[in-house]
Amino acid sequence: MAATSFTKKNLGLETGEPAVTPPAAAHTTFVKKPKLATSKSKKREIPEGLWTKCPKCSTMVFDKELDENLKVCTHCQHHFPISSRERIHSLVETCTFEEMDADMTSVDVLDFTGVASYRAKLAKYQQDTGLKDAVITGLARLGTHRAALGVMEFKFLGGSMGSVVGEKLTRLIERATEKALPLIIISTSGGARMYEGMFSLMQMAKTCSALAYHARARLPYISVLTNPTTAGVMASFASVGDLIIAEPGAMIGFAGPRVIKDTTQAELPPGFQTAEFLLDHGLIDAIVPRKDLKNRLTGYLNYLTNGQKLAAAS
Ligand SMILES: [Zn+2]
Repeated sequence: MAATSFTKKNLGLETGEPAVTPPAAAHTTFVKKPKLATSKSKKREIPEGLWTKCPKCSTMVFDKELDENLKVCTHCQHHFPISSRERIHSLVETCTFEEMDADMTSVDVLDFTGVASYRAKLAKYQQDTGLKDAVITGLARLGTHRAALGVMEFKFLGGSMGSVVGEKLTRLIERATEKALPLIIISTSGGARMYEGMFSLMQMAKTCSALAYHARARLPYISVLTNPTTAGVMASFASVGDLIIAEPGAMIGFAGPRVIKDTTQAELPPGFQTAEFLLDHGLIDAIVPRKDLKNRLTGYLNYLTNGQKLAAAS
C-alpha cells in the first residue's frame, strides 16, 4: 500500500515539472503549457515491431502471423514486400541453395556525388541489408529440378540494376546455359542505377545477350515480376521470359504513370500498370499468389523440361 502511494506521488511530481520547460522560470504562463505534452508522451506504450497495418485493408496484422503467411495479409491477401533471403527460403528445398558471387561489389566509377556520395550510399545499404548489392544469385533445387535462381532485393537502393546486378545475373545465366539448367529470375526494381550512368544501362543489353544464348540452347527461362518491377529491368531481362508471371497487385511498367499521362495527354485506364491489367492485355502469362509460387514454378518446370527428358530417353 505504502509503496503504491509513493510511486503515485513521484509520478505526479515528474509531470508537474516537465523536462521541456523553457529555461526562463520567471514566465509562469509558459511553464503551464508543456504539461499536456508530457502527459501525452507517457501514454505511448504500444510495443513496436509486433503489429503491421495493412495498407490495403487497414487491418492490424500480427507480425508473426504475417511472417508465417509469407508476408501476405491474412485478411485481404495484400502482398507485402519480402526480402530476397526470405524469398529464396520459401522456394528452394532446404540446404540446396549454392550462392554465386556473394562478395561482388560495385566500384564508384563516376565518382558520383549527389546529396551523398555513391560510395557512402553503398556502404549504408550494405550495412542495412547485409547484402553486397541488389541481387542474390545461385543454383538450387526446386522440387526435383535443379535450376539457376536470381532474386532481386528492393531494399538495396530500390533494387536498381548497376554493374554488379547485371554481371551477377549474366554469370548466372551463363552458368545455367553451360550446365543446361532452367532459369528463374524474381525481379523487383526501380530500374537502372543512375549512380553508374551508362554502365548500368549497358547491363540491359548484356543480360539479354546472355539470355539469347540460354534460349538458343533450348532451355526455359521463367521471369517472375513482383511489386514493383519497372524501368530498365522491365525493359530488359524481366520481360523476355518464356513464361512471365507476376504476383497479385504488382506494379509493373516502364515509365511511371504520371510521366505517361503528361506525355500522351490522355486519361489512363483504371488499374493501369497493375499485374491484373497486364494479364488482361496479354503482356504476362499468369498471376500467381505467393503461397502457390513454389508449386506453380515446379509445375511449369515439369512441363517445360518434359520434351528434353523425352528426347534424352529416345
Ligand atoms: Zn490487408
